[in-house]
Amino acid sequence: MRPIQKLPDHLVNQIAAGEVVERPASALKEMLENSLDAGADKITVDLAQGGIKLIRVSDNGSGIEAEQLPLALDRHATSKIGSLDDLESVATLGFRGEGLASVASVSRLTLTSRPQGADHAHQIIAIDGTLHPVEPAAHPEGTSVEVVDLYFNTPARRKFLKSENTEYAHCAATFERIALAHPQVEFTLRHNGKVVWRLPQQNLADRVSALLGKDFVDAALQVETVAAGLTLTGFIASPTYSKASRDAQYFYVNGRFVRDKTAQHALRQAYRDVLHHDRHPAYALFFTLDPANVDVNVHPTKIEVRFRESQAVHQFLFHSVQRALASTTAGASPPVQL
Ligand code: ADP
Ligand code: MG
Repeated sequence: MRPIQKLPDHLVNQIAAGEVVERPASALKEMLENSLDAGADKITVDLAQGGIKLIRVSDNGSGIEAEQLPLALDRHATSKIGSLDDLESVATLGFRGEGLASVASVSRLTLTSRPQGADHAHQIIAIDGTLHPVEPAAHPEGTSVEVVDLYFNTPARRKFLKSENTEYAHCAATFERIALAHPQVEFTLRHNGKVVWRLPQQNLADRVSALLGKDFVDAALQVETVAAGLTLTGFIASPTYSKASRDAQYFYVNGRFVRDKTAQHALRQAYRDVLHHDRHPAYALFFTLDPANVDVNVHPTKIEVRFRESQAVHQFLFHSVQRALASTTAGASPPVQL
């Protein structure tokens, strides 16, 4: 045993990276969320070798001032919250201030940005967590983050990465989850130089159709319920369109893709009488509520949330979906056509 000592910052970041950056797709998620939080309406993603070799996210968002660039890569440094009150009503996707610091500690990261209205862009490079001086660079208004050679300095973690194909599939799934919830944003995804997705600004129905397929949309019922500060909008598959796996289940809380037991249970119950037990309903549902009534700070990657009144949430989701399904099975009103 050694005497107790404080760990160096770089090592602290690498430990945190183990939670936040499980694989290339998790780095991509942090970067895409930052672009959305910056108000971008055009986002381009370039991947090479499943994201292991390269992840580059470019946006036309607010940008970062030159003197703030080192802070953007610093741990616990954020422009999104400043107090406990802010945390309890947080409306941005990020707020922990550890995304870029974690990614930078396990990669070669270049952050280039030009704030809206500024004449010049600047750039900062972090290699193995060490920051190089800020330098002038060429870049349009907005920000690019380039992450090269993820885990090059942590071979033990690198060994946990799967094949390029598998890592690519995770990156594509992350991209699709985020693109689905932001139809007002133009998205492009390229892998190894080839365009995989080019999604224009569009309405939700068109975005759902582009990403989940026309057959899903053709068989979908529209949900639009509002009650006591809770809203649920989106599309659910009619019972005739079910899946043997859960991969067509998209559920969002305040714009964030989550895996939530309460929601899964409520939806499962709503479908219980119309779906065979080994089949899974398909859906793209957007649930919104007052941010003060949901805790998003329970998981480092925020994939889970905690509702203040989970019973009320369960009832609301169950009744919303059950009512939409009943409109078809009762033959009262025809399914909503898109
Ligand atoms: P968080 O998102 O939790 O604040 P990050 O480490 O992901 O933490 O980012 C740190 C800060 O860097 C953000 O709060 C934001 O001010 C800035 N930033 C990161 N990415 C972008 C971007 N694409 N556009 C504008 N600002 C950004
Ligand atoms: Mg972030």
